[in-house]
Amino acid sequence: MSDRARCACPRCTIRGLMGPAIIITVGLLLLLSEMRGSFFDFSNTWPVILLVIGGVSLASALAPMTGHIAPPPPIVPAMPPPPPPGTNPVWQPPQNRQGQ
Ligand SMILES: [Zn+2]
Repeated sequence: MSDRARCACPRCTIRGLMGPAIIITVGLLLLLSEMRGSFFDFSNTWPVILLVIGGVSLASALAPMTGHIAPPPPIVPAMPPPPPPGTNPVWQPPQNRQGQ
């Protein structure tokens, strides 16, 4: 588990329900297909998954962000400064190493 604090605002909470909602929907559709078949075959009912994804996305977009905790910015390593103009940009080994 991540040690980062999870945001508990309504928008992030609803967005976190996307995976479970899809899994439950697929399970229900497959169960319906096994029990009823014919019209309720999975080849006929799979668009319900898209409706669930759209519904959860819409609910997430409309939910308030009060108390939202933004994730920390990614850590990007600093680029070395460009060589001054007129110098050879070929890499040179660092000097003053210990043990040599
Ligand atoms: Zn949030």
